[in-house]
Amino acid sequence: MRLADPLVGPSDESAALLLRDVHVLDPRARIDARHDLRVRAGTIAELAEPGTIEAEPDEELIEGDGRLRLLPAFFDPHVHLRTPGQEHKEDLQTGTRAAAAGGFGAVIAMPNTDPVLDSAPLLRSLRDAAARQARVPVGFLAAITRSLGGEQLTEMAELRQEGALGFTDDGKPVQSAGMLRKALQYQRLCGGVLALHEEDPTLSRGGSMHEGTVSAALGIAGIPTVAESTMVARDAELAGYEDARVHFQHLSCAASVQAVAAAKARGWRVSAEVTPHHLMLTEADVRAMDTRMKMHPPLTTEADRQALIEGLRAGSIDCVASDHAPHARDEKEVPFEQAPMGTTGLETAFAALYGGLVLPGVLELGLLVERMTAGAALFDLPTPLVAVGEPANLTLVDLDAEWVAGEHGWESRSENCCFAGRRLRGRVLLTLAAGALAHRDRALAAVAV
Ligand SMILES: [Zn+2]
Ligand SMILES: [Zn+2]
Repeated sequence: MRLADPLVGPSDESAALLLRDVHVLDPRARIDARHDLRVRAGTIAELAEPGTIEAEPDEELIEGDGRLRLLPAFFDPHVHLRTPGQEHKEDLQTGTRAAAAGGFGAVIAMPNTDPVLDSAPLLRSLRDAAARQARVPVGFLAAITRSLGGEQLTEMAELRQEGALGFTDDGKPVQSAGMLRKALQYQRLCGGVLALHEEDPTLSRGGSMHEGTVSAALGIAGIPTVAESTMVARDAELAGYEDARVHFQHLSCAASVQAVAAAKARGWRVSAEVTPHHLMLTEADVRAMDTRMKMHPPLTTEADRQALIEGLRAGSIDCVASDHAPHARDEKEVPFEQAPMGTTGLETAFAALYGGLVLPGVLELGLLVERMTAGAALFDLPTPLVAVGEPANLTLVDLDAEWVAGEHGWESRSENCCFAGRRLRGRVLLTLAAGALAHRDRALAAVAV
């Protein structure tokens, strides 16, 4: 089967710059040292000892002073770009601008749009739009079931041929085990990953936050963690039975991490992601009933958070995903129970995790970089690599920079970020995506020569 190129985005590959004396860190390329790096025609053209490459007159020179870190660009396998149909929240342009500002060189968009991305013509038009508007390459997951209705499979083979990276009903679970089994059987034939939002609605129904001491104190209906973990266990076993490939989205609790680890130990082809907010926040952050803390799955307990961190460290959880879920201000400025679920996250992901986990010594920076780029391979895409001849997918960060999330506004059209107002450490200065300059921070003027 001939497949369309799964990632679509900017075709301008004209970036010409010299990054002089930057500290290059790429665990896969086994580089952790100061280098000069030249980008030409969208490709990493030279990598040499610091201070040895002379700048050409037609290229921009960025001086790293041995201090600025140059990383492979991050990859986000789970974002909501809200187009078509909800462009008041986000669109291809603003969503990918937010991605680039967060250091992401490519993203995968979810299909729970309006209408739902469940047909080949719609996928074709979205890919055309992304080629014109996206700041970084975008891949698309199509729906597993028509209109996310859970009753009828989409034309999975046709969608694959049109370039769908895989399938998901994200926002909703595939409630019927029989329906999921059928999807897994088709997936074995047509390829692509099935990404699963795990939630048993008979357990979660009516809940607005994690079911526990905080929900009891606030008098808000809770969602028990078993709503997620029982579905993870069920679907891991189905994937094993059908020898199919599934990816578990946004894990939120210890029991789910255990279920994924057990599935991997049995050799089942499963992978999993975790969000920065589940790694950094807990149900205690919901006490003030700030609707930016309302998301699906909900923020859980400190013990769950620790299990997620350990799962990410040990590799039971493969990668970080933002689950960037923009909502308009008037939609979120309502009583907690009525507010839609979701937080934005592209622009804060790296800094939240760098300041929250790397600085205190919980996670090595190299491991965080690995987990923030690992999503690409899970969806059969090339992993960004800092090596000569590779396409320039690079992120330049200042690890010493302190900033307050949202203080200068957002690139996203929405501002419902759970980290808004927090002091963060580590700022993305520059992002190159597929050879094109996708983002340049205003602070970069200070270091550009
Ligand atoms: Zn979801
Ligand atoms: Zn989502």
